[in-house]
Amino acid sequence: MPVLAIGSDITLSKLVILARDGVINLDLGRPIRDPDDWQPIPGSLEAIARLSQAGFLVTVATNQPGLALGSLDLDALNAVHHRLHDRLDRVGGHLVAIAYCPHGPAEGCDCRKPQAGMHRCLLERFGVVGADAIVVGDRPTDLAPAHALGARAIWVRTGRVVDTCNDDNVEVFDDLSQVATVLLKED
Ligand SMILES: [Zn+2]
Repeated sequence: MPVLAIGSDITLSKLVILARDGVINLDLGRPIRDPDDWQPIPGSLEAIARLSQAGFLVTVATNQPGLALGSLDLDALNAVHHRLHDRLDRVGGHLVAIAYCPHGPAEGCDCRKPQAGMHRCLLERFGVVGADAIVVGDRPTDLAPAHALGARAIWVRTGRVVDTCNDDNVEVFDDLSQVATVLLKED
């Protein structure tokens, strides 16, 4: 739920929606089935910790088409996310939700990025409007939902394919650590 400060200076929490692979952990270019294959990008867990300790609601939205295509099952996905929560816990970070799309590209669902269904659910769940959300991704499909919902779009250059971002409505940073530093400076 949004955090309300008591008094005249009432502020709602901001919601941060992160892509997983290429933002928090290395993008292996394939589904991560084994928690031991899940490798955090240096500084990413500490960045999430800094944000969550400052009152940001930090969430994840991740496409997991392997669930539909048979290259990943739910037990494996849960085990990987357990590892993520556990490693975050050790540095004092917290994810309030992980949303995943279990559908394949051919299914035409409204949650698989670049569609905005996961992001819309997260906004509704935490009572945050699009303008108070910050979407962080390493590829255009991660940031399309930000544009659809009027959220702030941030590109980080830690993806598997480090591309050039030609979108004026996207801010570009080196990594999640730099994003956290900028957001906390503004806060
Ligand atoms: Zn879906």
